[in-house]
Amino acid sequence: MRKEALVNEFPGVPQDLAEVVERHGQATAAGDNATVLADFRADRVGQLLASARPPAGMHSAKLLSLEPGSDGLYEAHIRYTGTETEAVFRSRWIELDGTWYVTQVRNVPDTPPQTSAAHPSDDGVDAPHWEGLRRGELRIQHCPRCDRWTWSPRPICPGCHSPELDWPVVEPSGRIFSWTRTWQPFSPEATGHLPYVVVNVELPAAGNRRILGVLQDGDGADVRIGAEVKGEIEQPTDPANYPVLRWRLA
Ligand SMILES: [Zn+2]
Repeated sequence: MRKEALVNEFPGVPQDLAEVVERHGQATAAGDNATVLADFRADRVGQLLASARPPAGMHSAKLLSLEPGSDGLYEAHIRYTGTETEAVFRSRWIELDGTWYVTQVRNVPDTPPQTSAAHPSDDGVDAPHWEGLRRGELRIQHCPRCDRWTWSPRPICPGCHSPELDWPVVEPSGRIFSWTRTWQPFSPEATGHLPYVVVNVELPAAGNRRILGVLQDGDGADVRIGAEVKGEIEQPTDPANYPVLRWRLA
């Protein structure tokens, strides 16, 4: 009965995959780590383990959707319920030598990580930038003597060596000079937010200086060099942290 139900429920999806995904969700909720690990693609076990953040006291799972995705992969959404919260994981499945494996997993919706690592440097040379973000402004270091813009900040102007530098407010608008999509959770904060897209943005309002940042909704975005982006200053969830500048495709 259940097998027929799965076929009807998820058209266009191989029946054996529907069964595997259903069982995988139940095993995850039950803390059956041996089964869960066996479902992970062997060369990505460490990465996948750190890629999604389950709710505390997870006790049940419900398969919400399963459908063909891009690149020949199949995409599943499973809701996990804990004692007080719940989380939806999106897993992507691949068939290797006749067996189905998880090749990607993350929490949804696609929210960028908040990080305590974004703060002024110890020497305080970039403090005006961070204080600017607190006021909702993007401020970039500039030399009034030779009109040179500098990023990242320096104690003196790299052009004329003047120590008298100012911090004008700059329009948070620019072009993607370079970008990369990151699948690896390099810091604990990134867990559950993978993949994310880091962009190197060229700022015409600051002499085409380039600044690094994270692209909002970058998971499924078609990112291209030269694309126009707008910056938005995101206030921290923890008031002890500093705001961060996020970029959005214009
Ligand atoms: Zn200068």
